[in-house]
Amino acid sequence: MKKIKVGIIICDRYKTCAGGKCFRAAANREGAFSIYKDMELEIAAFTTCGGCPGGNIEYAPEEMKKNGVTHVHFATGFIVGYPPCPYMEQFKKFIPEKYGMEVIIGTHPIPQKYYVTHARLNSWNNEFLSESVKPTLADESTRLRYD
Ligand code: SF4
Repeated sequence: MKKIKVGIIICDRYKTCAGGKCFRAAANREGAFSIYKDMELEIAAFTTCGGCPGGNIEYAPEEMKKNGVTHVHFATGFIVGYPPCPYMEQFKKFIPEKYGMEVIIGTHPIPQKYYVTHARLNSWNNEFLSESVKPTLADESTRLRYD
């Protein structure tokens, strides 16, 4: 069975988060982790962006790569925070270019309470964000389990 090592970068606004939803979703292959359904998965790194404008994005992937990480996930907080991270699109281009690693936006399914607020605010109303939320949108019952 193919084994994948992933690294998770969280938005620093949630820096005290213990990662419970991300780790649960990874174990269940839910949200953005559903792409690893038939693979062995190891979360080999977990850190924050370092705070706006995300200085740690420049350096953290280097250490992750040394430890065998090939896929970097930006945690769902990048999308559901208000406002969604304004630098995401640049980060998503930077990491593959500099380190040759794949970037996936999102980790666990979007919690329903965030979904409702952002849907009302029409937050994900450009092409980049509307694509970015797709892996973690899930269905309502799944979102409710992550509330
Ligand atoms: S909004 Fe973006 S740059 Fe700012 S703390 Fe969150 S992830 Fe980092």
